[in-house]
Amino acid sequence: MEEPTGRLTPKKVAVVGGGLVGALNACYFAKRGFDVEVFETREDIRQAKVVKGRSINLALSHRGRQALKHVGMEDKIVSQGIPMHARMIHSPSGKQSPIPYGKKGQFILSVDRANLNKELLTEAETYPNMKMNFDHKLKDWSPETGLMTFTRLDGSHDQIQADLIVGCDGAFSAIRKQFLRRSRFNYSQTYIPHGYMELTMPPVNGEFAMKPGYLHIWPRNTFMMIALPNSDKTFTCTLFMPFDEFEKITTGDEVMEFFQEYFADTIPLIGVDALKRDYFRLPGQAMVSIKCSPYHIGDKCVLMGDAAHAVVPFYGQGMNAGFEDCIVFDEIMEQLNEDFSAVLPEYTRVRVPDDHAIADLAMYNYIEMRAHVNSKWFLFRKHLDNFLHFFLPNTIVPLYTMVTFTRTRYHKAVDRWQWQDKVINRGLLFGATGAVLGGSYLLFKNPPDINKLIIPTEKMWARLMSLWTS
Ligand code: FAD
Repeated sequence: MEEPTGRLTPKKVAVVGGGLVGALNACYFAKRGFDVEVFETREDIRQAKVVKGRSINLALSHRGRQALKHVGMEDKIVSQGIPMHARMIHSPSGKQSPIPYGKKGQFILSVDRANLNKELLTEAETYPNMKMNFDHKLKDWSPETGLMTFTRLDGSHDQIQADLIVGCDGAFSAIRKQFLRRSRFNYSQTYIPHGYMELTMPPVNGEFAMKPGYLHIWPRNTFMMIALPNSDKTFTCTLFMPFDEFEKITTGDEVMEFFQEYFADTIPLIGVDALKRDYFRLPGQAMVSIKCSPYHIGDKCVLMGDAAHAVVPFYGQGMNAGFEDCIVFDEIMEQLNEDFSAVLPEYTRVRVPDDHAIADLAMYNYIEMRAHVNSKWFLFRKHLDNFLHFFLPNTIVPLYTMVTFTRTRYHKAVDRWQWQDKVINRGLLFGATGAVLGGSYLLFKNPPDINKLIIPTEKMWARLMSLWTS
């Protein structure tokens, strides 16, 4: 832990929500020397027997790592994660084909959500100017005075006042409710028609049942399953599917028929009994995308993490973006001498376009992951982009690389991607036109012997057409 900077009368910062972003943010504010209190509705997860949360594991990438590095946590968290260097695509017949995420040596990490949250809380507590309040559920707060009311499980209430309130209380933020009452606050939320369900693939003879260095994907166009490795040698498989498809399956035999048709290679690995049982353990869980603006009220309150921008999980960026919020806010604090009245509007100005861009990209990636990865054109473009990136590393940078392995602002990454796409597609068009014209010229100059020409058979045409359309 680094020493907090000295301050004569430290201002009080209340971080509401002790989840991933709240716990990290608490470290950032404590490191700056503020008097920090965290208020979390749940009991202390380090003592809890069962930890309720969303996904079991998450993909941590560059932005999240940079944010952890700032508070000295990167090495510890990285050493506990499992590197995933490529996607491993499983075809319906069981064939596996890897598609690397980036250059050699670039990888994302599978990390345990509960463990990460525990480590961050423990780190936050090492600051002497930090107080944790578990079993504190925010009920109401005043944007004028900064007075907050919390309820506790025993029915009692606590009232606490702070100079700055940082809303890190997730997608269904209670802090955000006050924003909704105000004029000129823009808000939109979209539930996608797909839900998710988690299933566990146990180890086989004490070892991973599949290759662990990959994020496994079973893309099936309108739905898909993915699997991330855990440090206990299990995989967490997440099935993403339209809710009406989930609901159509009502018996164990129907589960087996469904898996036999689409994910046959996983049946012996997850196990028939486990599949029949676990499919019905919980219904499909909803996924929501939330955009809003501004992120602040005066100099009193700011939203970060999912409270400001819940995104669908298909770019693996929700937590990473939330962690990056902490660095961006900290950078602006540095530039503007911790003057909340200047920092908060600047944070909104800088961060809103980026968080909105990643929300849109995450929606886009759902289609890419479940459908485009099956297309030969997509694979060709992935290889071409990587090839061009190798030779022109500063001119052509694949979108996934910019999002996952750099801190290029999300909205700039989108602008650049659209520009690159135009340039590459034009290049391909010119190349193809040149090849046709050149070929025609050569044919014209050197007409072939008609008797030696290969006339495509009906079968060859059908094969060519299927290659073109797939
Ligand atoms: P949360 O994690 O929701 O934490 C909010 C905290 O606030 C909780 O502890 C909650 O108890 C507390 N709270 C709520 N209300 C109150 C209240 N009234 N008073 C006090 N406390 C309160 N992101 C990635 O980067 N990579 C991934 O691979 C990835 N995979 C995902 C897979 C799935 C299936 C899902 C659903 C999400 C995934 N995400 C991923 C997104 C990631 O989970 C979120 O972006 C991240 O959890 C946001 O953290 P947060 O702290 O803002 O919110």
